[in-house]
Amino acid sequence: MTPDDVLARLRDLQSRDLPVHGGRTLAYVYDAGLPDVDRVAREAVAAFAGSNGLDPTAFPSLLAMENDLVGFTADLLDAPGGPDGVVGTITSGGTESVLLAVQAARDAHRSAHPEVQAAMVLPDTAHAAFHKAAHYFDVEAVVVPTGADHRADVEATARVLDDLGDRTALVVASAPSYAHGVVDPVTGLAALAAARGTRCHVDACIGGWVLPYATRLGRAVPPWTFAVEGVTSISVDLHKYAYAPKGAAVLLHRSAALRKPQYFASAAWPGYTMLNSTTQSTRSGGPLAGAWAAVHAIGDTGYELLSRQVLAAVDAIVAATTGIPGLSVVVAPDSTLVALATDDTCDPFTVADEMTTRGWHVQPQMSFGPHPATLHLSVSAATLPHVPELVEALTAAVEAARAAGPVAVDPDVVAFVAALDPDALTDADFDGLLAASGLHGAGGPDAGLELPTRMAPVNALLDAAPPRLREAVLVAFLDRLQRPTRGRAG
Ligand SMILES: *Cc1c(COP(=O)(O)O)cnc(C)c1O
Repeated sequence: MTPDDVLARLRDLQSRDLPVHGGRTLAYVYDAGLPDVDRVAREAVAAFAGSNGLDPTAFPSLLAMENDLVGFTADLLDAPGGPDGVVGTITSGGTESVLLAVQAARDAHRSAHPEVQAAMVLPDTAHAAFHKAAHYFDVEAVVVPTGADHRADVEATARVLDDLGDRTALVVASAPSYAHGVVDPVTGLAALAAARGTRCHVDACIGGWVLPYATRLGRAVPPWTFAVEGVTSISVDLHKYAYAPKGAAVLLHRSAALRKPQYFASAAWPGYTMLNSTTQSTRSGGPLAGAWAAVHAIGDTGYELLSRQVLAAVDAIVAATTGIPGLSVVVAPDSTLVALATDDTCDPFTVADEMTTRGWHVQPQMSFGPHPATLHLSVSAATLPHVPELVEALTAAVEAARAAGPVAVDPDVVAFVAALDPDALTDADFDGLLAASGLHGAGGPDAGLELPTRMAPVNALLDAAPPRLREAVLVAFLDRLQRPTRGRAG
């Protein structure tokens, strides 16, 4: 292909993706609505795409940008009067930050208590990244149900910690939680951790860049930064509300000593001594430079304005939702995330499909324990001018969903699903499930799959399945999606 053909083909492929601009995609992407900032950030990504963070002495520009961004983040959270000695690392995203925080906590715990298996204590609303970390690093995840307010339950957490004794390596809090958008009682949780000499991580991946401005704008935000005694690490993603291109996040530690176990070095081979601060070794400079460019192109006053805009959009959405019959806000949001529930006249999955047909992408969230199925909205600053259209679309979508009634899952299919063993899902089971749920393309293990336009029947079916089975079905689904396109080389 000629360079022009390549670019044309890429544009064509991209045309079927969700839009990343325009403020109508309310999950996965975050839009400042500032085309100049996006342009500068994209140019920065391109300019540093080939630079390698593997060796900061070979690419001092990357080290300088990293130290600058970590300092900006620490100041944003706690200046003035924050603790001295805070250090950090730029990671590839929130999941990598969480993985590293858990790994560092586990290794520190292992040095102190080599005889017991490490555990981490987390509210049931903590991000799934912590379960991934538990899986990767053999740390037991001890989940504590949240209270009726959707926030971590400090007293229940204290009882769990007492039972675990010196097995606890880490206590987790969210600021805010992804699914419900509320900040946990960080002061109480961090005090429990400090009293037991254990680490406390605050997952501010999605809220960390907005909450400081919310505070500055006079909104009531519960304390969650290093100003809270006992908080030992904090994750803040740049590729969310710092409106940076994807692939950049910050992990802060209260001190260099706490960060130490995060580092990995190996001289146990004949090549260069590998020295890494993250899970990656070769690290593109692109995302780091893109984030540095976005942060400085927007700047502190720019972020204050963007925060004012996004919080105004959230307030308007919450206020309008109370007027839509059949729809309600699950809990008053502390930040920029809104969880919406339906009553039994309709279901969130159908509302999500109806929103899609109206050009809006909202994210269905399955029911989980006592938490009912909901719709998730990560609101962006770019959404503010479109709030009236959003409310209009939401009103019409709920009306259509109420007219259709809650999506019904065939009882035979529910029985079929309930009989499946998540630990032994066969290709035949999966084909049966695809056929039963009306997904087409079930032409054997090597056939491609096509996504249906209406996801509500599939989501309702998954919602009826226990979480372990949902995982197994979706893994089987991804396995089918990820089949190579052959015959292009050789
Ligand atoms: C997004 C998010 C994560 C994971 O971050 P990724 O960048 O998707 O890897 C972790 N915790 C919270 C609260 C998040 O919102």
